Amino acid sequence: MKKTLLLFAALLMSFSLAWAQEKGTPAAENKKADENSTEKVADKVPDTYANDFTYTPYTPTFKSDGSNGKVKNVILLIGDGMGMAQAVSGYYANGNDLAILKLKRLGFVRTYSASHFTTDSAASGTTYACGVKTTNGFVGMTPDEKPAANIPEKLSPKGIATGVISTDNISGATPSVFYAHVAKRGATADILSQLPLSKLDLFAAGCESLWEKYAPEQVAELKKAGFTVLNDYNQIQDNLSAARIGVIAKDADVQPVMNGRGDFLPATVRQAIEFLNGKSKKGFFLMAEGAQIDWGCHNNDVKYTVTEVIDFDKAVSEALKFADQDGQTLVIITADHETGGMTIPNGDYDQNKVRALYTVGGHTGVMVPLYAYGPHSQDFQGVQENTDVHKKIVELLEKGK
Ligand SMILES: [Zn+2]
Repeated sequence: MKKTLLLFAALLMSFSLAWAQEKGTPAAENKKADENSTEKVADKVPDTYANDFTYTPYTPTFKSDGSNGKVKNVILLIGDGMGMAQAVSGYYANGNDLAILKLKRLGFVRTYSASHFTTDSAASGTTYACGVKTTNGFVGMTPDEKPAANIPEKLSPKGIATGVISTDNISGATPSVFYAHVAKRGATADILSQLPLSKLDLFAAGCESLWEKYAPEQVAELKKAGFTVLNDYNQIQDNLSAARIGVIAKDADVQPVMNGRGDFLPATVRQAIEFLNGKSKKGFFLMAEGAQIDWGCHNNDVKYTVTEVIDFDKAVSEALKFADQDGQTLVIITADHETGGMTIPNGDYDQNKVRALYTVGGHTGVMVPLYAYGPHSQDFQGVQENTDVHKKIVELLEKGK
């Protein structure tokens, strides 16, 4: 009897699968649509990581959280690839404590792009930066290949200072959508040549060898455009009176944190806030990206993922600390997409241990969590499109002027 039932179930499954492929249901479409996702759930084995250090995350006061007060500044922290399992694995590994997971105003973001069910960082980043859904691979461009205005282009004419930080190279998808307009995310030299023409007051990202390889002549252009170019990220605080600051990080300062990156991300976020806050009385917008959470997940490497999440959380702590001092700063923490289809079948609370399983090597289409803190954080609760996140940020900053 059991055998007959099983046979029947198997028949039914193969039947519906064939039907789905023939009819072009989403399941079949995904397969051909998304070159970004490997989709194959092979015989994956969970990967275990026990953290041997913990840091103490900042505990917010919640004084300005959820108020209807003015939003003078916005700090947008993008954990590339950071879905729920990524954040939670960082939480367990850090002694059941992360700044991100202390926050109270949470939402979910739909991340699909104009061309794909599953987005890449270029398309999703373009949506956060410019407010339009676009084709995977496009940087700051609409689907019909027209430049879309980004937040620095929209807000700097209103006197708002702007900056971007990333643990990726500055030509990476997420930082470049805030200054470049190209239809190919891999067009590195083209992307770098657009940075001196940008509206940014500050950038800090990798790396020296990138500029040497693709655009050595552009460093002089950056200086001509008024950037004080630094290689040591700890010197932002010594150049607070500079007109503009560009940190071209040493290669070693943007390697994986588990290989000794140090405090590049939290330290640049802290100093960039100080620089941008002093730059304009009208307020500032800062985007900071924890880029390598995504890379750890592409590698299906739980140690890589978890150490990057904890490092990202340190940057979140810096942003929250400033938001509490300032009272008019909105902090948004979210992701551009989930990576790896990560889940946590097991772990150990007392040993900072996570046993994680990745189901794919690429990105997934699950909604990503959004954590908001400060005045108007309540506007970001519930399920929203990534276009909405851009719209709300720009409206709040414009209203705050
Ligand atoms: Zn990725």
